[in-house]
Amino acid sequence: MTNLTDPIFHDEDKAREHLEAIRWPNGPYCPHCGNADEDQITKLNGKSHRKGLHVCNECREHFTVTVGSVMERSHIPLPKWVLGFHLMAASKKGVSAHQLMRMLGLGSYRTAWFMAHRIREAMIEETGDTGPFGGPGKIVEADETYHGTRETPRKRKPGQPKPTKSHKSGGAQKRVIVGLVERGGRVRTFHVQSNTAETVRALLVKNVSRKSVLHTDESPIYTKTGKEFAGHATVIHSKNEYVRGNVHTNTVENVWSVFKRGMKGIYQHCGEAHLPRYLAEFDFRYNRRSALGISDTERAHDAIRGAAGRRLMYQVVGKA
Ligand SMILES: [Zn+2]
Repeated sequence: MTNLTDPIFHDEDKAREHLEAIRWPNGPYCPHCGNADEDQITKLNGKSHRKGLHVCNECREHFTVTVGSVMERSHIPLPKWVLGFHLMAASKKGVSAHQLMRMLGLGSYRTAWFMAHRIREAMIEETGDTGPFGGPGKIVEADETYHGTRETPRKRKPGQPKPTKSHKSGGAQKRVIVGLVERGGRVRTFHVQSNTAETVRALLVKNVSRKSVLHTDESPIYTKTGKEFAGHATVIHSKNEYVRGNVHTNTVENVWSVFKRGMKGIYQHCGEAHLPRYLAEFDFRYNRRSALGISDTERAHDAIRGAAGRRLMYQVVGKA
C-alpha cells in the first residue's frame, strides 16, 4: 500500500531526496557527460542556488535530479511528481488525467494529461532491455485484439464488404494490437498496422526465443511462423475449444481484459498516436504484478528509474 501521508508526497526537500535516492543509488551522476565520480561533483548549497543543484567538475555543467528525465523543465512541484508516479504504478487499470488533476491539485487538465504521458514514457520497456521471451521448455502465448477505430481508414479491397456501423467487418477498421506473453512471466504488446502473417512473424522472431513452444488460437496468421518454433499448439476458438490440457491463450486473454477495462472505464478516449504509450503502461504494471511479489512501492520506484534518460516534449506528444 502507498502511504499517502509520507512526507515525500508533500515536502519538496523530501521528494527530491526520494528521487535522488532512487535515481542515484551510488551517488550523483552527471547526465551531461556521464561522470559518476563523487569527488568530481559538487553540491551547490548557496542561497542563490536552486535546491538540489549540482555542478560537474568534469564538464562544468549544472544539473539536478530531474535533468535528463521525463520531469525535466516541468513546473509541477516534485512531491506531485512523486505522487503521480506512485498512483499510476499502483492502479491496476490506470489513472485518468481528470483524476490526477483532482488528486494532485494540478492547475489544468492539459498539465495532468501531459504529466500522465510523461510517466507512461518512463514506463516503456525497450526490447533490448530484457531480452527475448521464452526459451527451452517455456510456453509463449500470442494473440491479437482490436481496440478503437483507425484514424486513417484502411482501403477496402475490391469485393470486400463495407464495414457496418458497429465496425463488424472482421476488424478491418479497428486498430490492431498483438500481444506476446510468456506463461508465468512477462508480456509485451504492440500496436501494428495490420493483422497479417508477415507483421506477426516480424514481432515473434524478434521478441520470442525459437526454442519456445507457441500457443495461439487457430488463426492462419500463426500457422506458418509457428513451424519456426520448437512447437506450436492451437486451440480452436471457433469450435468453442478454449483449453486442451495445458494448451490455451487464457493468459494473454486476461491481459486484454485488464487493458480493455482500463481503456473503456478510465481512459475512454485515446488518440492512435498515443496508443503505444498506453500499452506500455499496462505492460509495465503486468510485468511487475503483485503475484510476482512486487509491491506498489517497488513498482513506482521502477517507473521513476525508467524516467532517466527519457524526455518527452509537449511538441512531440501533441494534443489530447
Ligand atoms: Zn559532466
